[in-house]
Amino acid sequence: MTELLVKNACVIDPIRGINGEIMDIAIRDGRIVESVSDRSEMIDAQRCLTLPGGIDSHTHDCGTKVNFGRYMSPEDMRAGRTQRHGRMHVTSGYYVPTTFGNSYRYSAMGYTTLLEGAMAPLEARHTHEEFTATPHQDMLANTLFDGNWAVMDAVREKDIQKAAAIVGWTLNAVKGYSIKLTNPGGTEAWGWGEDLTSIHEMVPHFEVTPSEIISTMIRANELLRLPHSVHLHCNNLGKPGNYQTTLDTLDLVPDLNPDRQTLYATHVQFHAYGGGTWRNICSKAEEITRSVNGKPQIVMDMGQIMFGRTMTMTADGPMEFNLHCLHHNKWSNHDVELETGSGIIPVTYSKKSAVNCIMWAIGLELALLTKSPWQCLLETDNPNGAPFVKYPEVIGLLMSKRYRDEECATLHPDTEGRTSLCALEREMDWHDIAVMTRAGQAKALGIINQGKGHLGIGAEADIAIYPIRTDSVDPAREYRKVVEGFQKTRYTIKRGRVVSREGEIIVDGANATFWANAKIPEDLRVDTDPEFIRRFQEFYTVRMSNYPVQDLYLPRGRRVDTEAFT
Ligand SMILES: [Zn+2]
Repeated sequence: MTELLVKNACVIDPIRGINGEIMDIAIRDGRIVESVSDRSEMIDAQRCLTLPGGIDSHTHDCGTKVNFGRYMSPEDMRAGRTQRHGRMHVTSGYYVPTTFGNSYRYSAMGYTTLLEGAMAPLEARHTHEEFTATPHQDMLANTLFDGNWAVMDAVREKDIQKAAAIVGWTLNAVKGYSIKLTNPGGTEAWGWGEDLTSIHEMVPHFEVTPSEIISTMIRANELLRLPHSVHLHCNNLGKPGNYQTTLDTLDLVPDLNPDRQTLYATHVQFHAYGGGTWRNICSKAEEITRSVNGKPQIVMDMGQIMFGRTMTMTADGPMEFNLHCLHHNKWSNHDVELETGSGIIPVTYSKKSAVNCIMWAIGLELALLTKSPWQCLLETDNPNGAPFVKYPEVIGLLMSKRYRDEECATLHPDTEGRTSLCALEREMDWHDIAVMTRAGQAKALGIINQGKGHLGIGAEADIAIYPIRTDSVDPAREYRKVVEGFQKTRYTIKRGRVVSREGEIIVDGANATFWANAKIPEDLRVDTDPEFIRRFQEFYTVRMSNYPVQDLYLPRGRRVDTEAFT
């Protein structure tokens, strides 16, 4: 039995309605309990800001495309190097670090749970291998279904049950957690040399539209009773004028679940552009947030960009090709058989570029104009908009108008006229930030009852104690203290163990991987359906029996059972 007592913590725990109370937290064997014995270890939090462990509900830090990003940037491997010490591995890389580099830096910032934003089912083994090498965070895999041939056949046949059964079988086979749709239908169309520019165009050879794929998958998701909603990267990412596609997509979404959103729209900054060309691009954050403010069934995340060099990577292969044509930079592209695709290209976001400055402003506008922080979560689509180590700066910008004004004064002069950021007075408070970085994520991902995102009795003891005294720091004025404070926790506690102290990793991690197991009725199972098996054997390069990920790839798998079709 291991016991730990955190004394004098200034706790903000939005899920339990606690906002700045000074309290003690008792921990036994990795979980929060009422009390512990006198012999327990003790930490004095000294009235510092204490939050549930951070949760990133959309990041790219594991899997084939992340690894290919590493191949493509040998120069990045010279950055961020740390030596081996104790049980800790060496790390290197800044915007695409090694797996241990990702894990240690997230941990130093108080993050304890991550959702990998896009796992191709066929490449799940590699993703799970990297999950086990990300030892300080529990992991979940958003699983790509945007161009899945069997799913698109079911969509065309208007067979929601069949679509659900295919998803349920696939998630079980590859140990995925949730449905990800990236440019649904678009990457498949591009595989045939064509492009889709609206959600009502047909995907060649499948005779389905993106809008039909999205609508069917939303309903299939609810039939399966999956903990998370459909997680959508909308069509037309990064194109001037794309906000109309985003609004059309948000209008498709019914309100189907009383406990959480019905659609999670990711990195919406990249989908909120007005104008018709790069010369007249402008912000449509007001239009997007007006829609989201009226739709409790939607949760989005920011997709904030920050200035500097980074690597973009996405299953949206055609978008990356367009970016390559724009930047003429090195580029790689990958087709994942019957499922999806991907593209990777390095970029540098510059204050000299009006487009980049407008993008930067749009991300912040989205957060500041969304009334409820539960509906707009903080992330940078790591590393697409910026490496996650920039989160503290994003927090500082959201909490301080003065910080934003100082930054705005350094931007391209066209920014002010084409965004409304400078006029926005709102300054987020500590509670808003706690929602946008952990409580909101836990609710959106459906992991509150797995003990995540809060510090209630029975919760997993994932805790971040920051060197910030909320009673003496004024975030509006002292934003530098805020940024610094969120960069390194005083203590990061993972399942009851102190894993990181003052930014130093002090023990080996032992993370878990959560995956969803939907119980499919016998008569709906696809893995015993001769037609499904025939098409699988005919078109995939792997045998169906070799497709499922073996248990040994998840040494600490945590199965989340759902009673599908009930
Ligand atoms: Zn992403």
